[in-house]
Amino acid sequence: MRIGIGYDLHRLAEGRQLIVGGVEIPFERGLVGHSDADVLVHALCDALLGAAGQPDIGRLFPDTDPTYRDANSLSLLRQVIVRVRAAGYAIVNVDSVLIAERPKFAPYIPAMCRKLSEVLQIPLESINIKAKTAERLGFLGAGEGIAAYVVALLERSVEPCKSS
Ligand code: MG
Repeated sequence: MRIGIGYDLHRLAEGRQLIVGGVEIPFERGLVGHSDADVLVHALCDALLGAAGQPDIGRLFPDTDPTYRDANSLSLLRQVIVRVRAAGYAIVNVDSVLIAERPKFAPYIPAMCRKLSEVLQIPLESINIKAKTAERLGFLGAGEGIAAYVVALLERSVEPCKSS
């Protein structure tokens, strides 16, 4: 068994679409980043890569590379999964916390879980997403951004799979 942790934070700004956990969420602001800035998927990528002993998302998909401009983070996640499997690991479960004052994520969590279950190819009950506020404290509490923490557990697969 191998465990990994991922953390990410993005600023909220007007004129951007809000995409979290691969799901479009109606909100007056969106996350700012080189890619679609999906904070939860980025933290998930780093948790998986960390557990597999691989370089982090910033090294694999540098924000100086135009290839990843406005990239769909789920496509980055798919590439991460290929690397994790190629390294001989299977994903056991992932647990996560989103921290945001607004919007309220609860109504969208089932859709995020379904999306991640589909991409990770693990059962729904192996994915957990919790949403918390920052109790109006600090920059998260002022609604300036959204943060995510993810923990992922991997197990060595009997036969390493080289393809997606
Ligand atoms: Mg990020």
